[in-house]
Amino acid sequence: MPTCQNCHQKWTWTQTIKKTMTLMPGMSCPWCGEIQYQSKKSRKRAPFLSLIVLLPLLLNLFFNLPSAILLGLIPLLAIIVFIIYPFFIDLSSTEEFPF
Ligand SMILES: [Zn+2]
Repeated sequence: MPTCQNCHQKWTWTQTIKKTMTLMPGMSCPWCGEIQYQSKKSRKRAPFLSLIVLLPLLLNLFFNLPSAILLGLIPLLAIIVFIIYPFFIDLSSTEEFPF
């Protein structure tokens, strides 16, 4: 779970989901109100997490999976990724640019 770099309080799963669902890059800490940003490391992880959702399509290249399983797996994995996503978030007090 992400920890605020200002007050060192851990954010809960619900707080993290609510904060990351906004389009703003800065997220105010629910404990101290200080603006926090996703760290560079944490932002680089996001594309890999979305790849998990597409994993059934990759598996299909090697094993001929029935399309019902394939179509069922994608939303299931999307839900799993959504649930585990907050565990992979790291916070930073300053905005870090990926490049
Ligand atoms: Zn805080």
